[in-house]
Amino acid sequence: MDTESIKKGIENGDRRFIAKAITMIEEGDSRIYEVLETFKDRIGKAKVFGITGPPGVGKSTLISKLVKEARNRDENVGVLLVDPSSPISGGALLGNRVRMIEEVSDPKVYARSLATRGWFGGLSRAIDDAMLVLEASGKTVIFIETVGAGQIETDIFKKADVVSLVLMPYSGDEIQALKAGLMEIADIYVINKGDLDRNKITGVTLRMIVGKEKKIVYTSALYNEGIKELYDAMMSKWEEYSKSGEIEKRRKMRMKSSLINDLNSFFFSLLEKFIKEHDEEMEKISEEILKGKISRYQASKELITKFESYIH
Ligand code: GDP
Repeated sequence: MDTESIKKGIENGDRRFIAKAITMIEEGDSRIYEVLETFKDRIGKAKVFGITGPPGVGKSTLISKLVKEARNRDENVGVLLVDPSSPISGGALLGNRVRMIEEVSDPKVYARSLATRGWFGGLSRAIDDAMLVLEASGKTVIFIETVGAGQIETDIFKKADVVSLVLMPYSGDEIQALKAGLMEIADIYVINKGDLDRNKITGVTLRMIVGKEKKIVYTSALYNEGIKELYDAMMSKWEEYSKSGEIEKRRKMRMKSSLINDLNSFFFSLLEKFIKEHDEEMEKISEEILKGKISRYQASKELITKFESYIH
């Protein structure tokens, strides 16, 4: 498939071409950069909503309902499912989730799991690039789902304009999320599986943790309850942040950290190459250090000087 037809296909919002482009991104196929170059002015066209939370709380089910709600409001919707712990070959689990969200008959929904071969900063860059492809294809709303509750997920959150943290009743997840630093990052708290907590007891505990300012929404994705309310809460947060300049601030921060990510990955790939090429030499130096001929400090200093001139 040549890049011209991929560009046209994306512009027409054709799912097959969007898929092809994102696969090229995942695989690090450099031809994709020519495509992305053409679309540089499409950046920031969509509202980006992050949905996160521990496994099993109902994120995918919830997103499938939110997608329907967005379609009722005539939005053109993209969904990215990201599991940082699953490398490119292990996407089968997410594949099932994609099918749950996408309706074959609706061309204005494109859902996709995203993984990379695991190079440094690869996932972060892949998300940025995939978002640009979705924006270029005319998506007006993008949901990004991340699994888990660790540091990588926290970084991925920052890609969204508004972040919702999904928890479920009686799981103690709120305590875990609090520990992982997720609580402060979330803009909206969702207690899904509300059907299991009709008296809304979990909401009371959560309220004590997050304070009275924060938005807490009860949903039951399974019974279609609270979906409109959640969607409205997300949209009004977006509008509020847009007016206050928060969206712009977040996007700028996001872009800056993407640039730093690019620098890091460039640096690390060079360093990796340098280490490979100097493998034998480093073995020899190690022997000399062990024989007491040179100090480790001096040896490192010499290697660093060598690396400096290697970069130039
Ligand atoms: P994820 O891992 O967070 O994406 O969770 P899933 O969307 O895969 O859902 C996990 C399980 O919870 C599935 O068996 C869903 O059917 C179920 N589930 C999702 N939403 C609800 C809900 O609102 N109420 C109940 N009782 N079960 C739900």
